[in-house]
Amino acid sequence: MLSMAVFSEVYDEDNDKVFVIRGTIEVRIPHNFYSQLKRKYSDEEIVSMQEPKILRHHHTKRELVYVTKESGLPLIGHTAFGLIDRGTNLIQVRPVSGCNLNCIFCSVDEGVSKSRRTDYIVDTDYLVEEFAKLAALKGDDVEAHIDGQGEPFIYPYMVELLEKLRKVPHVKVISAQTNGMLLDPEKIRAMEGLLDRINLSISSMDPRRGRMLAGTNLYDVEHVKEVARAVAASDIDLLLAPVWVPGFNDEDIPKLIEFGLEIGAGKRWPGFGIQNYVRYQFGKKVRGRPMKFSEFFKRLEEYGKQYGLNLKLTPADFGIHKAPGLPRAFRRGERVKLELVAPGRVFGEMLAVSRGRVIGVLTDRPAGSTVFAEITRTNDNVYVAVTAESRL
Ligand code: SF4
Repeated sequence: MLSMAVFSEVYDEDNDKVFVIRGTIEVRIPHNFYSQLKRKYSDEEIVSMQEPKILRHHHTKRELVYVTKESGLPLIGHTAFGLIDRGTNLIQVRPVSGCNLNCIFCSVDEGVSKSRRTDYIVDTDYLVEEFAKLAALKGDDVEAHIDGQGEPFIYPYMVELLEKLRKVPHVKVISAQTNGMLLDPEKIRAMEGLLDRINLSISSMDPRRGRMLAGTNLYDVEHVKEVARAVAASDIDLLLAPVWVPGFNDEDIPKLIEFGLEIGAGKRWPGFGIQNYVRYQFGKKVRGRPMKFSEFFKRLEEYGKQYGLNLKLTPADFGIHKAPGLPRAFRRGERVKLELVAPGRVFGEMLAVSRGRVIGVLTDRPAGSTVFAEITRTNDNVYVAVTAESRL
């Protein structure tokens, strides 16, 4: 093992630093590793081969695990990074976790978080290599959907990622989710011809309410509207994806629909993907009662009639259908011996690797420990295991 310090800094057009990776990653050194490293990173990026430090996420300040091929962490098995295959022609691509916002309704408790303790960033080549293997199982109309537990455009190598995904055989569509705050017209132009659709989460048209919903005074709804206009004017399709939080932004929903219609959202696919706020176990909890889905769909139907739109969407509206995927590597209830190799996404969780999958293990034991655990989740090739002590 070698501690390698790397840093990467990205500046916006005003020369403000928007992203920094600085610190040390622990890597296993294959033969000729240093010469490979020199080919991949410039001398400027490799600042030290010593001095162990903890790598930290620029926005969340949490520990950041750099997931490379050499790290030995597979990209299938966890929802915080890598790839998720839910048995359709759409593959979720998660290059980075962590968010620049702090939405009061966030389903993954991002921003100021009580539950999250670690973020992850994945090496671009590794991500695309593993993606290509998975895409090859699925037929000729694969959609790469870049999303994550956080804001994907925090990833400093997004254009490189898009370029490489575009070259993967069978990829027909590339889409990405974003809150829009880190985009601008120049970045959007740079992604034309690479990215097919942006799902833009914007939940209010009002600056004050926007800041309240985003949980930060840094949120600028006017900037996000500008981004929406720039996307709609580009050859990238725009889908507006507000989260409807009853009692908070009811009056924004029709305004967002009118805004989307005015700027030309949804040329190739539907222009609106309105989501109902749901209270998730590890998500942020908003006061008041969430809207029942029957009520939500009824109101979507009413707005649909009013504006002549289909707002009750199904996967088929986006060309998503069942497709072959990876076999499961474990059975639910199976008891396994696991070595803990890295910190988990949430407190009380560690990562283990077995049978080519990464497994989130609920335990307080440190890295390097071996534990016996029971696999409790296998859906979508996402694995969770619990140890006997974590059940107590
Ligand atoms: S932008 Fe998305 S990931 Fe970020 S805090 Fe808001 S809801 Fe969560």
